[in-house]
Amino acid sequence: MNSKQKISVVPAPQVVEGGGFVVRRPFPAHGISYVDPFLLIDEMGPVEYAPGKAIGAPDHPHRGFETVTYIIDGQMEHEDSHGHRGSIRSGDVQWMTAGAGVIHSEMPSQEMLDRGGRMHGFQIWINLPREKKMSQPRYQEYNGGDLPLVEDDGRWIRVIAGEAYGRKSPIETTVPATMLHVKLGPGAEATVPVAAGSNVIAHAISGAGSFEETALTEHNAAILQNSADAVTLRADDAGGLEVLLLAGLPLGEPVARYGPFVMNTMNELERAFEDYRSGNFGEIARAN
Ligand code: FE
Repeated sequence: MNSKQKISVVPAPQVVEGGGFVVRRPFPAHGISYVDPFLLIDEMGPVEYAPGKAIGAPDHPHRGFETVTYIIDGQMEHEDSHGHRGSIRSGDVQWMTAGAGVIHSEMPSQEMLDRGGRMHGFQIWINLPREKKMSQPRYQEYNGGDLPLVEDDGRWIRVIAGEAYGRKSPIETTVPATMLHVKLGPGAEATVPVAAGSNVIAHAISGAGSFEETALTEHNAAILQNSADAVTLRADDAGGLEVLLLAGLPLGEPVARYGPFVMNTMNELERAFEDYRSGNFGEIARAN
């Protein structure tokens, strides 16, 4: 770590969102509206749903950014206004570039609804650069088994985006970005490459250790701005550390956001609402 680096650690307390959704959200909160290019981090759950109690997000729009859903435990089904539908389960990722606009739903699977079960995962919002905000929507979806897994020396790292220990994810990111699910055994350490100048977030899921020599414990997120070309996580000798690590090169552009839309200017934001209201986002075609 170079001496110019500054790390802040923010808490991610569990809060109940509208609709009863339980999340840990390091930001937007505590006066941090975003960490360029990341607009939001939600750790969903972990929560144990009783039969009939699982909840999700019914039809809603997005424009101007990417939503990434990574499931640690559970099952989610999604469908959208471009005829795309799919199911993601433990270990799987869906990387959706909303671009000019989609309407989608993100719901628990019928199986989760019927039987209940554990739900744990992440939803991350990543901003798009000005010239990509109105691009064609795109989906990338991978099963956990198709994402590289690094397992050695007390390290377990699923490479969701970017690379670690020479293993590269098949995900094509719009801005240079890294997303790793890291589990370290007691005293284990991982050093992973990121694009120099990235903003990096180490969201601690469980355990204790350090990020770039700064102490980090579960349910907190360490935020590092303007990184060097690698960062290091370490677990305390007494126990392990589980982290979702995110890194991305900042866009340095103005952010105008409201609800499900993230644009550069207020005018573009108003236009997004008009387009949505007038039906320009289409609708989800359902057979019945
Ligand atoms: Fe959504």
